[in-house]
Amino acid sequence: MRIGFIGLGNMGAAMAANLLKAGHEVTAYNRSADKVAPLVAQGARAATSVADACQGDIVITMLANDDAVEAVTFGADGILAGLSAGAVHVSSSTISVALAERLTAAHSEAGHGFVSAPVFGRPEAAAAAKLFVVAAGKSAAVATASPIFDAIGQRTFVVGEAPEAASLVKISGNFLIASVIESLGEAMALVGKAGVDKQQYLELLTSTLFDAPVYRTYGGLLARETFTPAGFAATLGLKDVKLALSAGEQLQVPLPVASLLRDRFLTLLATGGGDLDWSAVGALSAWEAGGKPPA
Ligand code: NAD
Repeated sequence: MRIGFIGLGNMGAAMAANLLKAGHEVTAYNRSADKVAPLVAQGARAATSVADACQGDIVITMLANDDAVEAVTFGADGILAGLSAGAVHVSSSTISVALAERLTAAHSEAGHGFVSAPVFGRPEAAAAAKLFVVAAGKSAAVATASPIFDAIGQRTFVVGEAPEAASLVKISGNFLIASVIESLGEAMALVGKAGVDKQQYLELLTSTLFDAPVYRTYGGLLARETFTPAGFAATLGLKDVKLALSAGEQLQVPLPVASLLRDRFLTLLATGGGDLDWSAVGALSAWEAGGKPPA
């Protein structure tokens, strides 16, 4: 399949590489061109512009946030103008429900397909083609995109025909992960200050009632106190908590824990931790208990 790939950050670079490995023809674009060269070495063609990446059957965006997806889609020479009729835009970024709705309407008007297909899994999972894809869109568009999902992930969950549903499910999942990071950080600060070994504590948790990837992955980062390089930056973590809050506001669903998490992320950013992995938000508790700031 001829695929355009836009956004070669922590996640996009690995996802695009797996599309090449699966035999797809990939034309890659990134705002800063230096990120394209490693992919060209793996067989991709470098796009000269966003429009140049829109010549195939599908274009995938894996960009940071709503602003980036809006700029690349609606901007001059953007996806909306560049994609041919019948082609499909697959948005894998974690974006707001409101933007997913706007993209759905705009692409429909232009005669394009649109699928929201955010993913669960960090850059290591992306590199190993082990992502979980949450997809929603018209069934024909989802079917067109399914070889892509097979190449980047271990399993795809189709959550209906309304793309915004996939975005909402993804946002709710990241809210849950952030809640675990915060509570795990508080629990570890408690036992850690009393002198219990954090690795041993984590081993106990994950061998008993908390045997889940989210506890293993984030517990490991918190026990090792390793927050650089960021697999998922704290700035993006704040973005996702805010997306949960705005979805809650739109649907009139109070999310008191998300309100608290928003303030925790603001504390992390205000104290210089914006570029740290988002798991550093869980290390604020140990700092507040007299320990060191996360770094
Ligand atoms: P990243 O910061 O590493 O990469 C972001 C990409 O967006 C870069 O290619 C950058 O050039 C591009 N970009 C940013 N602003 C832009 C703009 N205005 N115009 C054009 N391009 C712009 O981010 P990432 O970690 O790869 O995450 C990408 C998306 O995937 C985000 O929505 C994130 O929430 C989501 N996500 C990340 C992870 C993770 O663990 N890193 C996991 C699942 C989902």
